[in-house]
Amino acid sequence: MKTPKIPADESQRLSELHALKILNTPAEERFDRLTRLAKRLFNVSASVVSLLDAEHQWFKSGDGITASHTTRDISFCGHAILQDDVMVVEDACEDPRFYDNPLVTGEPHIRFYAGCPLRAPNGAKVGTLCILDSQARVFDADDAHALRDLASMAEAELVNFQAATSDELTQISNRRGFMTLGQMLLKECTLRHCFACLAFFDLDKFKEINDNFGHREGDRALMDFADALKISFRQSALFARLGGDEFVVLFIDMDQQQANERLDAFRLELNRYMQPLDRRYRLDFSVGMVEFDPAQPQPLTALLNQSDSIMYQHKKARRQQR
Ligand code: GH3
Ligand code: MG
Repeated sequence: MKTPKIPADESQRLSELHALKILNTPAEERFDRLTRLAKRLFNVSASVVSLLDAEHQWFKSGDGITASHTTRDISFCGHAILQDDVMVVEDACEDPRFYDNPLVTGEPHIRFYAGCPLRAPNGAKVGTLCILDSQARVFDADDAHALRDLASMAEAELVNFQAATSDELTQISNRRGFMTLGQMLLKECTLRHCFACLAFFDLDKFKEINDNFGHREGDRALMDFADALKISFRQSALFARLGGDEFVVLFIDMDQQQANERLDAFRLELNRYMQPLDRRYRLDFSVGMVEFDPAQPQPLTALLNQSDSIMYQHKKARRQQR
């Protein structure tokens, strides 16, 4: 096994890492959604945002792994930050640097690794976004491109504590985050010939909550709704707050019938979530759904417009029923 070299700019690198004030901070949805998505996109057993200090690599976010850190000397990421671009190890057993590494010979039995360095604002490589698997894999130029795109989003989150792609109030994706990740997922659906569905939500009579109970209570209602989305769709979909009381969910690898079933279940789950909170109002919503057909791929913006107008028709119909 080869231990990773210490980069020439190590002291500068460490001071930039510490300046980010992100080491030893709790898990955050804005990083978790990236590792979740990377794991799903590449169909691997784990994805990690790893930060390297002097002695350890710390997992700021990990999907598919249970450890919170390892020592730096056995880390793959310690090697990845020595490169400027994605480091790929298609089969660790065939690589003199890693074949007898304890992460290869023991848990989590890494065979495949691809890691893209993450840079702090002044350019130092402070960590990686990486994917790993217990099976050897090939990784082509398109894969490397997609990993770089996700890594650049992780970098934006690292440098921008105001969270470039997160909604400040609810901590789920904002419009910008949704557009970037959503377009990536739809491209993947086209390549893999799988259906997707976009659901566009607008809360009903949300202004009444503000008017009757105050803006802060309105904020809390938006957070409640986002929490219910997290609980229901965490594993299976990308979701976001576009702004105001508008939310979206992108269902991957699902046709319209399956997605409609998930929406029906969500209505029940939302009520179940709200009941013990004992708020003074009910949260209700109108929703419009469109299907993405990989044989006739449409851009995400077109799907958003269509689902928005279907939502609006449903809202009008619901109003007339009252
Ligand atoms: P409808 O049933 O037709 O959807 O009407 P609505 O009362 O839900 O109002 P609408 O969707 O047209 O507008 C959303 C309102 O949400 C407008 C604004 O007053 C309020 N709002 C937007 N952003 C926030 C926010 O961050 N916090 C709070 N508390 N209110 C917000
Ligand atoms: Mg509304």
